[in-house]
Amino acid sequence: MATNKSQLHNEVVSKVQEFCESNKMKAQTTTALMELLSSLLAPKKGGATSQNASYTDANGTVMHYCRFHQQFEPESDMVLSQGKNKGYCKASISIWNKRNSAIKAKEASIAQFIIASDIEAAKSASIELQDMKANLNEPSTYDYDSDWNAFRA
Ligand SMILES: [Zn+2]
Repeated sequence: MATNKSQLHNEVVSKVQEFCESNKMKAQTTTALMELLSSLLAPKKGGATSQNASYTDANGTVMHYCRFHQQFEPESDMVLSQGKNKGYCKASISIWNKRNSAIKAKEASIAQFIIASDIEAAKSASIELQDMKANLNEPSTYDYDSDWNAFRA
C-alpha cells in the first residue's frame, strides 16, 4: 500500500541503482548518489513516505532510511520488528527512549511541585517539558555521529 510518492521514490532509487550497476560505478559513488537522492526526494517534515525507502548498495548491504538521522543506514544498524524495518536505527531509538523517560520524570516532578504548592517550580518545569517534547521527534536534534558514539559507549 505504498503511496504514489514513495512508489515514485522507490522507482527512482532502483533506476539509479541499476544505472550505477550497469555503469560499474564505485560503491562510494553509488552511496553518495543514493544519499543525494534521498535528500532530494525525502519530504522535509517527518512524513511516513521516506521511512519506507530502502535499497541494496553495491556491496550487497541492504540500506534503510533512518527518519531521525535523515540518512540511509545499513540494515544491521536498524530496528527491525519481525523482519520489518521500523524506519529508525538502534542509536536514535536509544536516545528517543532516554528522552521519553526524562519527559515522564519531568511530568512526575511537575505533579509533585503542584502537590507541594510550589507553583513557580511547576511553571519552570512545564516550560522545560515543552522543549523536551518539541525535541523528541525533531530530526535536527539528533546527530548521527554522537548518537552512535553514545550507543556504542
Ligand atoms: Zn539513525
